[in-house]
Amino acid sequence: MTLVSNDIQKAAEILANNELVAIPTETVYGLAANIFSESGIKKIFALKQRPLFNPLIVHTHSIEELDKFVSYIPNKAKLLAEKFWPGSLTMVLPKKSDVPDLVTAGKDTVGVRIPNHTVTLELLRNLDFPLAAPSANPFGSISPTTSTHVANYFKEGLQMVLEGGACQNGIESTIIGFENETPVLYRLGSISVEEIEAVVGDIAIKNNKEAAPDAPGMLSRHYAPDTTTYLVNDVASFASQFPNKKVGVLLFNQNIEANNIKHIETLSISGNLKEATAKLYATLHKLDTLDLDIIIAEKFPDYGLGKSINDRLLRATKK
Ligand code: AMP
Ligand code: MG
Repeated sequence: MTLVSNDIQKAAEILANNELVAIPTETVYGLAANIFSESGIKKIFALKQRPLFNPLIVHTHSIEELDKFVSYIPNKAKLLAEKFWPGSLTMVLPKKSDVPDLVTAGKDTVGVRIPNHTVTLELLRNLDFPLAAPSANPFGSISPTTSTHVANYFKEGLQMVLEGGACQNGIESTIIGFENETPVLYRLGSISVEEIEAVVGDIAIKNNKEAAPDAPGMLSRHYAPDTTTYLVNDVASFASQFPNKKVGVLLFNQNIEANNIKHIETLSISGNLKEATAKLYATLHKLDTLDLDIIIAEKFPDYGLGKSINDRLLRATKK
């Protein structure tokens, strides 16, 4: 059994020993190793069954630390860092040569972020190396937002999950890169496009496989439950096409009536997108355990965090 514990000192010792610890962040739980430990980083890829061409995000505790592994910070990246760090923004920046190729999948850039979680910030301050950490789930499956999700995914091969409660934002970080100093969004996430644009002006969105083939969060199938999932505008009428199936539905703020619906989950009765985002993955995890034949999700409003939710739900529907 994987140990779930809030012992930060023990987590630091395990990491210093080239082993993995799952860490809490405000987005989702991460599967962490020392970025300078080749054996540790290899264990992340092996445990997740993640393809080696997918780079990992580096987590650190302060902007001053960036100097150790980033070679250049564009002006707009500085503005975004001031506004959103610690927080759910990952920036892809030119890397220093001592960042191992395993972490960056051989790229000359590195994705970095300062997470906004007191437990993990304290852990990072106790370490003399940054942590590489992708989400703590098998490749392609729903990301974990509680320590229990992580412990259920990895019954072997992981020594410890550092307990940090339920993730407050509940969806992965927004990823921004820079092309000729101009910010480009590579992954929709916990910070909305509108919030980013309020700081740096209009940004281009390149969050699909064609535009950025080597970013795992952009693969067409990702974040997916085992149960077949659909994303539609009108849940009730779509559900009526499956009279003999056990149907579960995922709704934004309404309730619906239809005879054959076995289970209904409404993410935010008050229509609050932040609340809906925070509950999204935990609710998908739950629906996936109910022995349903299909899950039907409602399309969310296409603005703010609704865009990020739709992005994840769409990828959850792909085979
Ligand atoms: P995960 O940590 O599982 O949420 O996935 C990490 C995300 O960060 C992926 O979508 C990566 O493609 C992205 N990422 C990390 N480093 C880079 C990089 N150097 N260039 C482009 N994307 C990156
Ligand atoms: Mg992931």
